[in-house]
Amino acid sequence: MPARPTPPAAPPPLTEPVEDYLKAIYELETRSGAAATSDVAQALRVAPASVTGMIRRLATQGLLDHVPYRGVQLTDLGRRAALRTIRRHRILETYLTQVLGYAWDRVHDEAERLEHAASDDLIERMSAALGHPTADPHGAPIPTADGRVDERTHRTIADLAVGETVRMLRVSDKDPELLRYLAGIALQPGVEITLLSRAPFDGPLTLRVADGEPVVGSTLAAQVLIEPLPARNAQRAVTPTGDRNTTTDARPRSARKSAR
Ligand SMILES: [Zn+2]
Repeated sequence: MPARPTPPAAPPPLTEPVEDYLKAIYELETRSGAAATSDVAQALRVAPASVTGMIRRLATQGLLDHVPYRGVQLTDLGRRAALRTIRRHRILETYLTQVLGYAWDRVHDEAERLEHAASDDLIERMSAALGHPTADPHGAPIPTADGRVDERTHRTIADLAVGETVRMLRVSDKDPELLRYLAGIALQPGVEITLLSRAPFDGPLTLRVADGEPVVGSTLAAQVLIEPLPARNAQRAVTPTGDRNTTTDARPRSARKSAR
């Protein structure tokens, strides 16, 4: 009998559906530690029965493991493959906005298609042309080429205390209507936000953003991630790869706590 081949160090080339599954499972996992089959089906808008079949295949390929009663979790190989697709997606979105002048609500669908087609070489050239950005236009961290990414959790506008001033960090890229609305009230990553008042009983919040004082509902407020203002005169940590202020965690899954 021939010797078993040694497993590859990097994930093998994967089909488009496999890349979409791994990406969806990664996103569900960072939210809740494991991905239930029903949640995967909902995220990918496919029938639960076809998810079961695909999950069996991905487990056979060593890309994920079953977690009793909770669903599935990516193996280190599956996680690296998911982060590779996410890196492509976020670099494409950044390139489309910064170089080609796309609005931030119009890049997600393009990137969903292109992330499967672009070669690694093209993605790395785009990243270099952009000066190796660490966040995409929606504020999402861009995984490094060797699979490190900032997975810290963050507060939202809904968590602000009255009078507190913070900086907008990130919003989901999946709802173009929400993105257009936010742009209309000048809420974009990097802007300073102060909570001026909060109506009682989960009522609307009045903010100060740039010169405006937009009023937002609690549902919208809970979708906008924030970060503390940078300390004045603070030295920004610069790593040899040029990543600024990123906390990366390349430890294997078993060493990491669940994100939330
Ligand atoms: Zn996107």
